[in-house]
This record gives sequence, C-alpha cells and structure tokens, in this order.
Amino acid sequence: MMCVMTEKLIIIGGGPAGLSAAIYASREGFEPLVIAGFAAGGQLLLTTVVENFPGFPDGIDGPEIIIQMRKQAEKFGTRFINENATGIDLSSKPYKIFVEDKKYESETVIIATGADSMWIGIDSEKKFMGRGVSSCATCDGPFYKDKDVVVVGGGDSAMEEALFLTRFAKSVKLIHRRDAFRASKIMQDKVLQNPKVSVIWNSVIEEIKGDKKVGSVIIKEVNTGERKELQVDGVFVAIGHKPNTDIFKGKLEMDAKGYLVTKNEVETGVTGVFVAGDVYDSYYRQAVTASAGGVKAALKVREYFAEHS
Ligand code: NAP
Repeated sequence: MMCVMTEKLIIIGGGPAGLSAAIYASREGFEPLVIAGFAAGGQLLLTTVVENFPGFPDGIDGPEIIIQMRKQAEKFGTRFINENATGIDLSSKPYKIFVEDKKYESETVIIATGADSMWIGIDSEKKFMGRGVSSCATCDGPFYKDKDVVVVGGGDSAMEEALFLTRFAKSVKLIHRRDAFRASKIMQDKVLQNPKVSVIWNSVIEEIKGDKKVGSVIIKEVNTGERKELQVDGVFVAIGHKPNTDIFKGKLEMDAKGYLVTKNEVETGVTGVFVAGDVYDSYYRQAVTASAGGVKAALKVREYFAEHS
C-alpha cells in the first residue's frame, strides 16, 4: 500500500485568503501545501487594475497580486498543487483531502475556496470582463466618473452597487428581470429616491456590445419581447454569489446559501479545521478582508500546534 505523508497544514484555495494564510504559516515553518485549484487565484484573476489594495498607489493588476503573493509564500516553503480538491474526509485525524484519485493527509486544514460571482451567462459578458463588465462596484466604481452605467439585479447587492455608483457615474440604470425588487424596503426606497438612478423593469441584457470596451447593451423586455439598445460605459452584474462549498456538504455546517458557518470568523465545528475569506464571508468580499481572514486562520493554526504538540 502506498504510504501518504501527513502534512502539518493543507490550505484549500489559491486566492488572497489562501495565499495570505500560506505566507504566515510558511514563515512559522509549517511548510503548507496549497491546493490552489485549476484557476489558482480566485476572483482577482478576473479583474484588471485594482486601485484599493493598500501599498499600490498607482494600482496593481489583480493577477499580479496573485503572482506576487504566491512568490512570497513559495519563498518561505509553501508548495502548490494547481488542481481542484474534489473530496474531503474530516471524520477522523489526520484529515484527508482528495484531488481526483490522489489522497493527501493533514493535521490541520484551512478552507479558503472562496465564492464566485454569478454571471448573466451570455458570451459578450465574458468578452468584456474587466473591460467594462464588473461584479464589484467597490473595486471598479471610481473608473466610471461621469459615465453611464447599468446594474443588473434586484437584490440588496444590486441596490448597494447602484447607490455606490451614483457617487461617480452620471447615470445609473438598474435592470431587473421582474417588476418587483427582492431587496429590503429600506434599500429599495433609497434607490428609488435617488435622482441619478432609474429602473428598467421586466428586462434582461441580451448582448453587450463595444469595440475594445463596453459601448452599449441590447436589452429585452421579457413580456413584450421588445428590444432596445442603450449607450453605456459599464455593466455591473449584481445577481448574487455562490460559495465554493460543494465538497463540504454534510461535513461542515453551512447556511441556506451554502456559506460555511464559523465560530469567531475562523473556526469550524471540527478541531484544527479553519476558514478564511469569501467562503464564509458573504458581506465584505474584498481581497484585503479575505487576506486578513487568511492571516487569522494561520495564527489559529499556530495556536493549534502550540496546544497540541
Ligand atoms: P440575492 O438576494 O440572491 O438577489 C439576486 C438578484 O439577482 C435577484 O433580484 C434576482 O432576481 C436577480 N437574478 C438572479 N439571477 C439572475 C439572472 N440570471 N439574470 C438576471 N437577474 C438575476 O443576492 P444579493 O443581492 O447578492 O444578496 C445576497 C444576500 O446578501 C441577501 O441576503 C442580501 O440581503 C444580503 N445583502 C445585504 C446587504 C445589506 O444589507 N446592505 C447588501 C448586500 C447583500 P429575482 O428577484 O427575480 O430572483
């Protein structure tokens, strides 16, 4: 039988949460193994210039942040596997993590698998991603000073994004597929009272057009089928997020939307299994807050070994 070496720490996820955890944990000498996923880097890989990452006054490209974080983690002894974790067994120690038919064992685990924005799902959306199509007004709003933008969605996120964008944009059109918002009343009221925001009800975006950047959208009224073209500079998609927690179903506590439930923002119900970043945090969802979560989880791993060695 093949003998599997037991790692001290396996980190699942290669975005800012996982990589920040790896930097701290590797400096502590835990030689973490990061199962970083095929796309190794998370949502930052979908962005272009990030202007709000502290330390980079001229901005830095999202993928570059990931490259630099990985380098920093590697320097202190982190190892990487750029494949997706496909299964996990937390029923006994050491914990087992599977990557297809390969098995890895570890004394502790940090789960930092993140969440993915949900997208409309049309081809042109992919084409203009990072070039006028965004899922984060906090990140990209300031690029739209005096421009015309649309926000897609009818939940609290869409309201929040629309309101935030009014600080920069000349006009914000909220496109919603139904005739009523899902958002809380207070958020709806704020949106409906804001003179910069107008709502296009019962409509969906069928196509995003432009040369190098977004220039217009074709929207369809869902009841009449009528189509019209709107000149816009930006499309903000705010139709929800999906946490990457499929492999933890039935093994760790999660809420109705699949976000992991934590104690003290870091601990799970299983000893030595910690959580960081968007996989539990549906609220802040920033690279910097995810990084901070990774650091907290790594410090918890240190505490774990201090108590268990
Ligand atoms: P959400 O509540 O699930 O709303 C998603 C919205 O997107 C819905 O209006 C939905 O339409 C629409 N949608 C879904 N798929 C779509 C598609 N393919 N095409 C077009 N529209 C689509 O998600 P969320 O707004 O991200 O909020 C998530 C959770 O965080 C909620 O519990 C929310 O209250 C909370 N949150 C709170 C705050 C706050 O309190 N400040 C801020 C942000 C989020 P339908 O309505 O037709 O389903």
